[in-house]
Amino acid sequence: QDLKNEDLKDMQELGQGNGGSVKKVEHTPSGTIMAKKIVLIDAKPSVRKQILRELQIMHDCNSQYIISFYGAFISDPNICICMEFMDKGSLDGIYKKIGPIDIDVVGKVALAVLEGLTYLYDVHRIIHRDIKPSNILCNSKGQIKICDFGVSGELINSIADTFVGTSTYMSPERIQGAQYTVKSDVWSLGISLIELALGRFPFADDSSDNSDLSDFEGTLSPSRPGPLSALPSAKQREAKEKADKRKKRKSKGVSLQGGGMTMSILELLQHIVNEPAPKLTPEDRFPAQAEAFVDSCLFKDPDARLTPKDLLKHPWIEQSRISSMDLEAWTSTF
Ligand code: ATP
Ligand code: MG
Repeated sequence: QDLKNEDLKDMQELGQGNGGSVKKVEHTPSGTIMAKKIVLIDAKPSVRKQILRELQIMHDCNSQYIISFYGAFISDPNICICMEFMDKGSLDGIYKKIGPIDIDVVGKVALAVLEGLTYLYDVHRIIHRDIKPSNILCNSKGQIKICDFGVSGELINSIADTFVGTSTYMSPERIQGAQYTVKSDVWSLGISLIELALGRFPFADDSSDNSDLSDFEGTLSPSRPGPLSALPSAKQREAKEKADKRKKRKSKGVSLQGGGMTMSILELLQHIVNEPAPKLTPEDRFPAQAEAFVDSCLFKDPDARLTPKDLLKHPWIEQSRISSMDLEAWTSTF
């Protein structure tokens, strides 16, 4: 509430995403270390105030599986969101550093994400909308928590308007323009778990004719509301150009220059819609229950897919819950 920029001392850059950047900061009056996310949005002051109001719901989100919220404020022209700092960072960074993640750890990740999603939906009717390894964070106490969920409809709109973002974690029904449901988050979880277990984005190497997809790391396809099954409309192209400009300012990620790349993104989206879902393979490498769990996250028909709450009863999740895998010890290995 009383958070202000003057009280926050920058310590370290933690990373950049499509919507902005995240810094490790110290709140000097209290000595609290926080993560400060700066969201670039170009919206009217009235809209920014509305976003700020909507973000206040995060004060009521109290769960060990959800990143805590310290407050948000406007720092013209940006919105700053201050949250709990997770000293081991996000799971994408972790697997890129240490390689494929042990399946027993992946099981604990699945459990934590399902618990977080169930809490958000059952208690607050919030759908996450952006489950992926970079939004699953870890600390040296061995806790796993989710962040960047869609609390503010106005913020979702503002970002969608200014940036045709990401997400090849998007479910087939979302790509085809259907309503978002908790089951779309389940699909994204399935894709994320394969990525962690294999140490690479699952759609990366599966067709030889568009090997450039491997560069995408699942970060470049459009996530704007509405159907994307057709070729880009003039409006989408225009939005893509804006996105290109923004991408160029970023140091990470590939450039979107050249029409060929755009087609690859569309090909990837078409692939998700038309081809069988990826699996946790090779078969002998992973426990059968883990494989079965991932399969059930990745039913292409959302009606066949279970909700996070139902998936908490899956045998692999029940087993992960009682597993003796020590996450605190695991985090001390990197
Ligand atoms: P995108 O913008 O496509 O969603 P992203 O999730 O990587 O990608 P950001 O949400 O801006 O982008 O986060 C950038 C990076 O900052 C993340 O990859 C993560 O490693 C780091 N980060 C974010 N929040 C925290 C936090 N609370 N504690 C520690 N590190 C964090
Ligand atoms: Mg994020």
